[in-house]
Amino acid sequence: DLSQLNGHIKPRYVRVNTLKMDVDSAVQELEKLYKVEKDETVPDLLVMPPGSDLHAHPLVMNGRLFLQGKGSSMVAAALQAEAGWEVIDACSAPGNKTVHLASLMKGQGKIIACELNEERVKRLEQTIKLSGATNIEVFHGDFLSLNPTDPSFAKVRAILLDPSCSGSGTITDRLDHLLPSHSTDNTNYDSIRLHKLAVFQKKALAHALSFPQVERVVYSTCSIHQIENEDVVSSVLPLASSLGFELSTPFPQWQRRGLSVFTGSEHLLRMDPVEDKEGFFIALFTKTNKIDNSKP
Ligand code: SAM
Repeated sequence: DLSQLNGHIKPRYVRVNTLKMDVDSAVQELEKLYKVEKDETVPDLLVMPPGSDLHAHPLVMNGRLFLQGKGSSMVAAALQAEAGWEVIDACSAPGNKTVHLASLMKGQGKIIACELNEERVKRLEQTIKLSGATNIEVFHGDFLSLNPTDPSFAKVRAILLDPSCSGSGTITDRLDHLLPSHSTDNTNYDSIRLHKLAVFQKKALAHALSFPQVERVVYSTCSIHQIENEDVVSSVLPLASSLGFELSTPFPQWQRRGLSVFTGSEHLLRMDPVEDKEGFFIALFTKTNKIDNSKP
């Protein structure tokens, strides 16, 4: 079982739900079982040795701790939404990043959690309930169907966009490629699938940038493919700059940046599936108020 192997080499991460528990109390509790360190990048994330198993731990069962990887936990943190803001989580189920946002926003303001898939909406609602957050509104529907000029979104200042992706950054997926069943047919199928995913990713990112009061947009995937990452970002750059957005640098201290396929890709953040034990990608757009009028 490949996921077993995965579990043995990767450090275990656990995110403290600060709506219910503070980080130091969580460390104290977990130290009774495992060696625990605070993550150097995400302040509410704790790191434990590979193989640490907290699935049935009471603090996980009661929503004080969430089992959430490092890449995933960097996304809501990169958005830096302030307490009291209105925020959209565009593709939200099962809701790990949604409730992380709620925790970072100290339970204040409003989060609109959008999710298309009905079964996954149920999981989203369970996650929200477990987290104790009371400021999350679930919208069951297509993010692309939200009208950016609708007055109900007039106060939305930040959008987190974590769309469906190939998942190629997870080691299980990469090891699958080594199995004999992976034929050339699959490769062809993969490229069609990647293309379809990228079409949606580009549309959704352009849509996120078009909400008038939005000043911060985070785009993330757990993919290693340029077509779902740098290429998606570069495709929206002309639109982004016409709307007054520029690329910012999430976690400037992080060494591994975007593939250098366009000017500005050094702002992007990548995690490497081997070196960092998971493949992940984060882009951050921020509005500077300076609309680019330089083009004729
Ligand atoms: N952000 C989630 C988390 O951290 O728990 C994971 C999101 S998952 C990568 C992408 C989600 O987007 C899926 O649940 C999928 O059903 C949903 N989705 C796909 N297309 C969508 C659309 N057009 N509008 C809203 N949600 C969509």
